[in-house]
Amino acid sequence: MGTRAPVVDHGPRTGAKVALTFDADMTDGMLASLRAGRVKSYANLRILDLLEREEVAATFFLTGKWVQRYPDVTRRIADNPRFELANHTYGHAAFTGDCYDLPSLPVDELAGDVAKTFEVIKPYGGRQTRYFRFPGLCHDVATLDALAPLGVTVVDGDVVSGDPFATAWNPLVRAVLDHVRPGSVVIMHVTEANAAMTDEALPHILAGLRERGLVPAPLSEVLAAA
Ligand SMILES: [Zn+2]
Repeated sequence: MGTRAPVVDHGPRTGAKVALTFDADMTDGMLASLRAGRVKSYANLRILDLLEREEVAATFFLTGKWVQRYPDVTRRIADNPRFELANHTYGHAAFTGDCYDLPSLPVDELAGDVAKTFEVIKPYGGRQTRYFRFPGLCHDVATLDALAPLGVTVVDGDVVSGDPFATAWNPLVRAVLDHVRPGSVVIMHVTEANAAMTDEALPHILAGLRERGLVPAPLSEVLAAA
C-alpha cells in the first residue's frame, strides 16, 4: 500500500499547449429539473459546434448520468479525434462530506462509483483516458487513497473560469485570460443551463489564446513531460 492517486493541476510550463476542459455534471436533482421541464438542456451544443468548426482540442470530464442522459452528444464527443474523454463520477456526488452543496456519498463507495462511470463511458470509444476530476475539486487523503487501485490521475486545474451560474460572459474571459499560461488546465462546463455564458465566452477565450501564442491541446498532451 502506501500508494495514492496522483493529483495534477497543470502540465509543464514550457511550450505553448493548454488544456480546455469541460465538466459534464449531472445529479438526480438536475435530472428531475429536466423531467419537470424546468430546464431545457444540460448539454451545450453551441460549445461543441464552435470547437468542431474551429478544430479546437478539448477534454470532457463526464458524469455517468450525463452520458446516459445524452448518449448522442457523448457519441459526438467520442467521435472527434481532437477530444478526450475523462471521468467526473457517476452522479456528481462529493466524497469528502463538506463540498459546497453537493450530495455526499461515503468514501468507501468512491472506487465503485468511478469504476462504474468508466464502464458507462468505455463503449463510446474514442480517446478514452484514466483522468478523473472530483466534483467541486473536493478531495482529501482518504479519497486519494481510495482511488489508488483504479490507476487514475486526479486532475484539478490551475485556471478556474467560474462559469457555473455566471450571468455575463466577460468575467469568464477575464478569469481565463488573466491566468492562463503554457501547461494550464482551464476548467469550464458544458452544462448549458448551469453554465449559460460559457459558449458566449468561448470565442473570446480562443481569440485571446491565439494572441498569446497558446494552443489548445488534448489533456494528455498538455500533461506529458515536455
Ligand atoms: Zn462538476
